[in-house]
Amino acid sequence: MLFYSRILVFEIMKRAKITTVIFLLLCIANLTVKADSEGKSDTDTNKYYLHSQEFQLMNEEKQKAIDLWIDFLYNPNDSLRKSFWCPDDVRYLGKNYALFDRSFFQFGLERAEQLAILKPYILYVEPLNDVFFITTLFAKFPLTVSDSSINNQSPWAIIKVAVRKENDKYFLKNVLSYETEFWKKYKYEYLNYLVHPAVEVDTVAMREAKQFIDSLSILWNGEKFDKQIDYYVAPSSSKITDITGYQFAFLGNMTGMVLQDSNTNSILLFTGLSNFIYKHEFVHIVLDEFGNFLWDEGLATFYGGTGAMGGKLDFAQNKKDFFDEFGELTLEKLDEMFEYRWKIYPLGAMVVEQIYKEKGIDGLKQFSQKFKVEDDEEKEFTHHSKQAKIAFKMAAEFLGITETELIEKINKDKP
Ligand SMILES: [Zn+2]
Repeated sequence: MLFYSRILVFEIMKRAKITTVIFLLLCIANLTVKADSEGKSDTDTNKYYLHSQEFQLMNEEKQKAIDLWIDFLYNPNDSLRKSFWCPDDVRYLGKNYALFDRSFFQFGLERAEQLAILKPYILYVEPLNDVFFITTLFAKFPLTVSDSSINNQSPWAIIKVAVRKENDKYFLKNVLSYETEFWKKYKYEYLNYLVHPAVEVDTVAMREAKQFIDSLSILWNGEKFDKQIDYYVAPSSSKITDITGYQFAFLGNMTGMVLQDSNTNSILLFTGLSNFIYKHEFVHIVLDEFGNFLWDEGLATFYGGTGAMGGKLDFAQNKKDFFDEFGELTLEKLDEMFEYRWKIYPLGAMVVEQIYKEKGIDGLKQFSQKFKVEDDEEKEFTHHSKQAKIAFKMAAEFLGITETELIEKINKDKP
């Protein structure tokens, strides 16, 4: 999964000075804000804005749905938040139960802190049978746009969630099952394909996909793959973000994503490339996640290429593109490159390649074990560039050479 770096995000969030300011259609001064119980409104103390259209159509049930959603967003207590969410989703998705949540709150800020910068603005509360769909815009307000398009980094996201009423109790729910209700379903052994209506089904690729997973599993784990994979095939990146709850997301172009939790039996794979075989994401599924960005993405790219930044899903091609664009590696260049997440994908794969050439599959396995850390959450917030630097240094040590010598070896393999 491809996310913007935290540094970039903070840069964007800090960027307050925009020279040419054009106000959007909405006159900011007239923004409807939630009125408190005394009927006063206050943009600074209220937790969200509400669109006038919804304000005028408000009723008691809608308000309850909104209150639950807002409570969920701001609540700092994990287990309380989980109790607001539909138990079916929690069983199915484990720690990823609220599909938007981990990518939206990825910046290491307190939830309230982030929401103070990106204040929720509720646009729609649409009733459908026993469900309300709430669409919320997250932007820095006042919302301004610039003549320089590169500065137009707001809104940040538009998120859609469902609120379902069950025996007088309200639960939040992902839109996933509603959004994919009319998708085509195919089962190929443990691969459960859910296919967007516009995508043509490729049964040959399904067979190849299973063969790839089986052989990778035997090679790395010494046993057959025995879990179920729900494989969502969409024709575009924005379709994936859509079904996972983002009507819009300024989170980078996502070509593929895997969601899994070892405490649940389900694994979800999302592709926006209409492909029924996705080796890169299969690697993330079959191999353990070792908790180092360079190593995990390096392994996945080594076996299956990377689609990050429009790349082809083929490592040989990624490597050629990389050298064509940046020329030979140097120690200085490397440091700079580690600041960009997408450059780490091919770089990581080139490190994997060197270890594989010297020490084979056993060498790869042995080296992987060096990243095993107890605390799952801890490593998530270590910056990717720092992780990449550490892994590169460790790889050189593992091969008994200096970092400069490792760079020379990589350069020698330039296609
Ligand atoms: Zn990946």
